[in-house]
Amino acid sequence: MKKLMAANWKMYKTWDEAKATARELADLVGALPDDREVLIFPPFTALKGVSDELASVKGFSTGGQDYYIQEEGAFTGEISPKMLKDCGAAFGLTGHSERRHVLGETDEYIGKKTAYGIASGLKVVLCVGELIEERKAGKVEEVVERQIREGLKDVPREIEAEQIAIAYEPVWAIGTGEVAGPEEIVEAHAFCRKILVDLFGEKGNEIRVLYGGSVKPENCSQIISLDNVDGVLVGGASLKGESFSKIVLA
Ligand code: PEP
Repeated sequence: MKKLMAANWKMYKTWDEAKATARELADLVGALPDDREVLIFPPFTALKGVSDELASVKGFSTGGQDYYIQEEGAFTGEISPKMLKDCGAAFGLTGHSERRHVLGETDEYIGKKTAYGIASGLKVVLCVGELIEERKAGKVEEVVERQIREGLKDVPREIEAEQIAIAYEPVWAIGTGEVAGPEEIVEAHAFCRKILVDLFGEKGNEIRVLYGGSVKPENCSQIISLDNVDGVLVGGASLKGESFSKIVLA
């Protein structure tokens, strides 16, 4: 299984900045090792530019940070999976903590969005993870199980394993510099794996489970070597070609 090294650029970078970072990254990474895959989630406005810049770079792809659950229509401000694909995207992102906790998306809506993205031909990275209060209250498994089961509720069980990935991102580790410890990561990822096997049978062992939360060049090689860590989803440290290239090659 290839490790998926994903960058979430959030609401950063103009068209020119995004294209320049994508080019710098591809140049610094050079020939990608066979066991790696790189995925960039630029802002919508730069998606086409980054996709074009990376189109001929082996092992690199792009995705949309969000999408709506209709193909087209009177939905002002929204973007459909069809439009993402038209800009070169292969992936969509759902359930990110900023969409759950800042923009108020529910488990139910995230589930519909995940299933709609897959039905529309995108591969989807579904993010899950607990708040610090939930961890302190001993509710990590309860939260993660609910988010995975609801998030994948309408996803057909016959999909290919590579059409979905889970990103375990403890909310308290996102953008805070406070990375989860190896034991916390191993425990949470083993739990995600258990739920995936329960939902998809043997195929659940082939679905990638990424870690996200303050991944940096300095901690990535340890994180990526842990059991059931099949890649990373990186925010802050993915914004510069130099630091993300080190993560990709960690
Ligand atoms: C993220 O936005 O998904 C994320 C993990 O951010 P950071 O790497 O900055 O913690």
